[in-house]
Amino acid sequence: MIPPIASQFVAGETAPGALEHARETNERGVGVILNLLGEHYHERGPADEDAQTYCDLLDDIATTDLRACISVKPSQLGLDMGEDVFRENLARVVERADEHGEFVWIDMEDHTTTDATLDAFEHHAREQGCVGVCIQANLRRTRADLERLADLPGKVRLVKGAYDPPADVAYREKSRVNEEYRDLLTYMFEAFDDGVAVGSHDPAMIALAEDLHEEHGTPYEVQMLMGVREDAQTELAADREVWQYAPYGTKWISYFYRRVLERKENLGFALRAVVSG
Ligand SMILES: Cc1cc2nc3c(=O)[nH]c(=O)nc-3n(C[C@H](O)[C@H](O)[C@H](O)COP(=O)(O)OP(=O)(O)OC[C@H]3O[C@@H](n4cnc5c(N)ncnc54)[C@H](O)[C@@H]3O)c2cc1C
Repeated sequence: MIPPIASQFVAGETAPGALEHARETNERGVGVILNLLGEHYHERGPADEDAQTYCDLLDDIATTDLRACISVKPSQLGLDMGEDVFRENLARVVERADEHGEFVWIDMEDHTTTDATLDAFEHHAREQGCVGVCIQANLRRTRADLERLADLPGKVRLVKGAYDPPADVAYREKSRVNEEYRDLLTYMFEAFDDGVAVGSHDPAMIALAEDLHEEHGTPYEVQMLMGVREDAQTELAADREVWQYAPYGTKWISYFYRRVLERKENLGFALRAVVSG
């Protein structure tokens, strides 16, 4: 069972728990992107199992009226074993989503996986259309990647980047990454007529998106993580589209520690919870 301290970031260990979280979040006007925790599998068994779990989850969502979709990680679907394994499992999941009229986001992992991830996205964007991909502002290549993606069906989520790529492929200074994010977001509002997904908790980037929307009319949605700026999620949802990325599953410990370590306020909260039992 997930302790209360972690359950602010993780939507339970099982699909029914995750769907219940989605229902409660929808009641606040916020859509939910469900991610089954799991990554970097080196055997086919777990990769195939997670693909099946996603298919079952898509079946479950289809029996409800929830505003919910899923987000998968390439290494969870087998990319570390080869592009063919990833492509085969992703195809199962996207075809199932397409049957139900649902949507699949593809997360972006470290910079060595960008080509394989974008190639798979492009294939399904052209075939089914019901896919989105995440793209990282800290990578030097991203402007060129966005130019490639601009005319494809499907959606693109711009994030700052959660990995730590080397300086020859990435901007490493926070201020430089913020500058890139602003430039890339501006480009997206100019070039992505079908819409932009702003994957950030940063009030400055969300304000910029609103200004760009007013200037260009391009539709957009804000995406934030479960447990981060939840009040802002609800407030923003009053007059724009907001989605919450909510991970679930039994492999929650490392995800929870990443969330705690990235922000000292969370660390204080975690320590107080441990000290006070
Ligand atoms: C929906 C979603 C999906 C993502 N998917 C991916 C992915 O596929 N691949 C990937 O590499 N990365 C992904 N990320 C992570 C992303 O790359 C960043 O590491 C992460 O979002 C932190 O950057 P930020 O833009 O939120 O702002 P930061 O630069 O971390 O923070 C900027 C400002 O935002 C506010 N803020 C940030 N965190 C908090 C908090 N905990 N509480 C209160 N205020 C806060 C503060 O005002 C802060 O000054 C995803 C993020 C989101 C939200």
